[in-house]
Amino acid sequence: MKVILALDQGTTSSRAIIFDRQGTIRAIAQKEFQQIFPKPGWVEHDPSEIWVSQVSVAAEAMTRANISAKNIAAIGITNQRETTLVWNRKTGEPIGNAIVWQDRRTAPICDRLKSEGLEPIFRKKTGLLLDSYFSGTKLHWILKENPDAKKLAEQDKLAFGTIDSWLLYKMTNGKSHITDVTNASRTLLYNIHRQEWDQELLEILGIPESLLPEVRSSSEVYAETSSDLLSGAVPIAGIAGDQQAALFGQQCTSPGLAKNTYGTGCFLLLNTGEEAILSQNNLVTTIAWQIGNKTEYALEGSIFIAGAVIQWLRDGLGLIRSASDVEALASSVKDNGGVYLVPAFAGLGAPHWDPYARGIIAGLTRGSTAAHIARAALESIAYQVQDVLIAMQTDANTTLTQLRVDGGAAVNDLLIQFQSDLLQNPVVRPKTLETTALGAAYLAGLATGFWKDQDDIKSQWQVDQEFTPHVSPEQVQTWRKGWERALQRAQKWQEEGED
Ligand code: ADP
Repeated sequence: MKVILALDQGTTSSRAIIFDRQGTIRAIAQKEFQQIFPKPGWVEHDPSEIWVSQVSVAAEAMTRANISAKNIAAIGITNQRETTLVWNRKTGEPIGNAIVWQDRRTAPICDRLKSEGLEPIFRKKTGLLLDSYFSGTKLHWILKENPDAKKLAEQDKLAFGTIDSWLLYKMTNGKSHITDVTNASRTLLYNIHRQEWDQELLEILGIPESLLPEVRSSSEVYAETSSDLLSGAVPIAGIAGDQQAALFGQQCTSPGLAKNTYGTGCFLLLNTGEEAILSQNNLVTTIAWQIGNKTEYALEGSIFIAGAVIQWLRDGLGLIRSASDVEALASSVKDNGGVYLVPAFAGLGAPHWDPYARGIIAGLTRGSTAAHIARAALESIAYQVQDVLIAMQTDANTTLTQLRVDGGAAVNDLLIQFQSDLLQNPVVRPKTLETTALGAAYLAGLATGFWKDQDDIKSQWQVDQEFTPHVSPEQVQTWRKGWERALQRAQKWQEEGED
């Protein structure tokens, strides 16, 4: 039996999933690791813990599937994106913890660069916004704040990597220093049009090019694992950042196809084919993947609070015992009763980008109940997704034909039905919700002939349920008026500088 091993290195846990030729899961192992919060707004991971947890789940999954290295046709890596670390090339020792994508410590650096009028240059070349979310300013910070870093960097002794590079480096016993185009496209250092590290941007951020990994496609044999790792060498043949891997796992491989992941937040990506569309509506442009010589692009929008608002109903308000209870509570009323909830708990992400917005519940009357609030919370997830999709369709000048969904909250039928009603489009939930790992497995399997070509895997994407709209467009317009009014009241709630 031959299989593919997908390593899914996420923000809160490392996972390993083994897929067979039909794309069916043969085994899963998962291990959480420590979140480190040294100061308010700072989030770090210990690179050694990431590595150890990742290797141990790989071994565990192999044991569960009862296989050895010779059964593994290839390994695919997918990872939390943007998280940044630097290690010593000679010793392999990290010079500090990894700075996680959520970390806001470099916000003042971004503000300074913006005030110097540099955002349009970054935007044009990288497709991103000047935000602390992306790797570039994190790397700048490490080089500036670590006492030894500058000297070591000048002596070409340091290596920068996102988590994919770090895993590959460790898996090859220090032989490979490589990343793929999708991870490179999240750094603020990579020109997504010319597909090279950008000298001007490196200069602005003071980053020596010698630190950077070599950038490769998302599907090719990069290296083999050192033979002691899994008791036998295995080719590592696919790399993609988690959201791009999910887009591929959902088989959104032609322009106009979009996926949304309903997790803690939401991540929406729309395939725009070989065209990199510069957003006019506050979305980011990113590389979807490169396979062979063909590079495809995507528009992306992230929503900060989605499934997290359901956690808040549970932990903050105590309205439900577990997240899955929300469906029954929200279904116990026929509609939201005029109640709208805007979960701008951490400001608003795409397409509003308003750090000063805060959450509100609007439209309360004497008749409002916990069920109405639960329903409004669930609906707020779908409204936010619609806001991003409106921006995406305007940017791409297309109309969506179908939205494919995954993530923990996508199991909620009421939510997905409401999403379809709002969008007036079919919303499709596939049988395999492990789309991130599956995408990485596909990329690795395609590079090694495990799957012949993309047509070979297309038929594996299977519908669990398709939701179609049950209400009229006029009804949606009335609903949206309430949402937009609530949204307006939540925006710019805080004064600049207020805590
Ligand atoms: P992440 O990968 O961001 O940790 P997951 O994809 O595991 O997130 O999804 C977890 C989120 O989904 C949680 O925020 C939880 O509140 C939400 N969730 C889980 N089950 C349901 C449900 N039945 N209805 C609505 N939300 C849910």
